[in-house]
Amino acid sequence: MTEDTIAGLAGAVRTGARTATEICQRALAQLDATEPSLHAFNTVAADRALARAAAIDRHPARWKQAPLAGVPIALKDNLCTRGLRTTASSRILDTFVPPYDATVVERLEAAGAVVVGKTNCDEFAMGSSNENSAYGPARNPWALDRTPGGSSGGSAAAGAAGIAPAARGSDTGGSIPQPAAICGVVGLKPTYGRVSRYGLIAFASSLDQIGPFTRTVRDAALVLSAIAGHDPMDATSEAEPVPPYADALTGDVRGARIGVPRGLVGAGVDREVAQAFDEALASLADRGARLVDVELPHAPYAIPVYYLVATAEASSNLARYDGVRYGMRTPPAAGAGPDLPAMYASTRAQGFGPEVKRRIMLGTYVLSAGYYDAYYLKAQQVRTLILRDYDRAFERVDAVAMPTTPTPAFRLGEHAADPLQMYLGDVFTVSANLAGLPALSVPCGFTAGGLPIGLQLIGRRHDESTLLRVADAYERGTAWWTHRPPIATR
Ligand code: GLN
Repeated sequence: MTEDTIAGLAGAVRTGARTATEICQRALAQLDATEPSLHAFNTVAADRALARAAAIDRHPARWKQAPLAGVPIALKDNLCTRGLRTTASSRILDTFVPPYDATVVERLEAAGAVVVGKTNCDEFAMGSSNENSAYGPARNPWALDRTPGGSSGGSAAAGAAGIAPAARGSDTGGSIPQPAAICGVVGLKPTYGRVSRYGLIAFASSLDQIGPFTRTVRDAALVLSAIAGHDPMDATSEAEPVPPYADALTGDVRGARIGVPRGLVGAGVDREVAQAFDEALASLADRGARLVDVELPHAPYAIPVYYLVATAEASSNLARYDGVRYGMRTPPAAGAGPDLPAMYASTRAQGFGPEVKRRIMLGTYVLSAGYYDAYYLKAQQVRTLILRDYDRAFERVDAVAMPTTPTPAFRLGEHAADPLQMYLGDVFTVSANLAGLPALSVPCGFTAGGLPIGLQLIGRRHDESTLLRVADAYERGTAWWTHRPPIATR
């Protein structure tokens, strides 16, 4: 299975067994073949990718140590790429071409990666289904009538469909683990501060992080090593040293203590998801891990807290799209007068989609005088209680396990008219963001109908290594990651 793993492809390029150009051509051919049904990309960068691959092939000696040599990579369309259109799937940024690269993009390219395109996502990363994209939803490679998840749906779909063995997503409230789980790939959201956010189009700055989608846990470790570490351009990026993550993959989980919050994973979880979760726990226990019951008493409040904090920060972050500084500007509506506020109003009315508007309004409301204490401040206080629950759990366990999502991929349109139902689906993912903790989703089975299911592990701050070690040991004992959707083999 070296064909579509990073470890396999980069190894082949380093030894000269394959050229970066042939790998890039293959990725682009797969992209072309699947794009009409998946719609995973907003922008394809074929010429840029081939030029870059050719440059790598011209100087093989330079890339002998490069961990991602010649590896095709898909970037979520909210990561700035110099000279390459970056829209965050919003009309308001439809023509925006950034003058600089995000730090992660620089680091990935320095490690040898070849950017093949920018992936579809929910507008400004707000959503759980990709249906909030101004360009229409990406689709799930396992069932084209279903969502690939969100907001990084295109990245997860591109990974699952075998287009790029590495895709990059951003995560504010589960946008990496959730689509990874329902597309059957590995997704890792690092600790807040572990990876620089410089050049990531901001949604909610105290929650946003960038992380990889990959086929295997080992590949996630390779990518994290390439992108983690301090960046002077992001004041929240931490100086904590970056451990050699691949060294953590010993295959051994004996003695690892895995916390199971039984109280949380009861009601509301799909029967097949619950069964796959129990089987994954049993498999970890068979391998020598110890299962320990833990309590996260404030976890049930994570959804309301998240949707207060995230909308508040979004309303502030999105104030910058005013028709003056970025992309689109529309003239004032007829009769509105030729003044500046009328131009702002018409640009924002036409540039933002309905979900983004809903969140700006909610966020403005919870920050407004008279309501700030009742909503925003209260949410921040409960956020601290959620964090303390995890601190207490981590006195007794090394990682906390839960299903990544309460259900498998739902049908496109199924929750479209009911935003609350959509928000409730984030029940297992948002608390890791609120607490700033790393979270990883690894494939742990399929429903009878063939839809992927994910196991989520949440770890201590800066302890991605334990998550990677446990998930890798689990993955070695299963064959879930070797399954491919039919569309991947075309
Ligand atoms: N689904 C969540 C939301 O709609 C999380 C999105 C994200 O992590 N970017 O806000």
